[in-house]
Amino acid sequence: MDLNDVKTVGVVGAGTMGSGIAQILAEEGFTVHLFDETYEKAAEGKEKIAKRFKKILEKQQDKDKDKLFHAAATMNGFLMSIGVHDMTNSAFIKKPQLFIEAVFENLSVKQTIFRKLDRFADKDAILATNTSSISIKKICEGLPRERKEKIIGMHFMNPPYILKLLELVKSEYTSDETYGIIRELAKRLNREPILTSMDRPGFLCNRILIPSILEALRTLEENVGNIEDIDSSVKTGVAGAMDILKLGDLIGWDVVLDITNILYKAYGSRYEPPRILHHLVQEGFLGRKVKRR
Ligand code: NAD
Repeated sequence: MDLNDVKTVGVVGAGTMGSGIAQILAEEGFTVHLFDETYEKAAEGKEKIAKRFKKILEKQQDKDKDKLFHAAATMNGFLMSIGVHDMTNSAFIKKPQLFIEAVFENLSVKQTIFRKLDRFADKDAILATNTSSISIKKICEGLPRERKEKIIGMHFMNPPYILKLLELVKSEYTSDETYGIIRELAKRLNREPILTSMDRPGFLCNRILIPSILEALRTLEENVGNIEDIDSSVKTGVAGAMDILKLGDLIGWDVVLDITNILYKAYGSRYEPPRILHHLVQEGFLGRKVKRR
């Protein structure tokens, strides 16, 4: 199987992420089946997409009626290529060559969906999950080895029609063929950058993002700063400045360790310096200032 065999994609879960993922797939010419627990919920997902398209049309400054008509017709085409179904209807599950699951971030809900997909989907179909943090290996527990090879993490960012970063997660079972097809698909969906992470809880993005969000919340809770200043400190002072590891290298790893030790003393285990930081300092790899890598 290669990407050319994937014409129809099933998106399971028509909420925030599922509706966004369905939209970008439809925009790239895939026929999309959008599934949710009930037909009504799936239809709500499609309605969300329609509203976004309507906004784009309203924003169009170009008053050229022909152009507007063309844009409206094209968008209508996207919507027509998205069919809606509930998950109880297995008749539609046979068709797609690829499924992307985006239901609640709950292991047992996801496992139930994957068991159902395993039973009803074509045996060659690839099953991807948009989980933000759950191990792919756990999600596919109990499924046959041949199916596990076709299961992969495809972690889109919110909203997927704006943020292009995509994190791919290979479990120890994911085959190179599955990974290759999904990587090709990611390129076709104009994802950039495409990261690959090991199958560890939280993967790359959320391991780094969630501690920052939590610490921002703690500073808010303790009245250390107001919401605007907390957000600005990250946007312009930290995340906006440069790549995070390059920034550590520029600050100097000895300085990072000194700061971390002060924070560790003040706030406890969430600031415990990782072994790699001690190692860098002990071995004299202090960052850019010592010109030693
Ligand atoms: P959401 O609550 O907006 O949507 C979840 C949808 O799944 C709902 O429409 C719900 O009805 C449906 N659903 C639940 N159980 C179902 C079932 N058994 N069968 C069919 N449909 C079912 O949630 P979301 O924010 O879209 O998150 C979905 C997934 O995407 C989660 O795994 C989440 O971690 C991940 N994710 C979320 C974000 C984000 O910023 N929200 C970003 C990246 C990844």
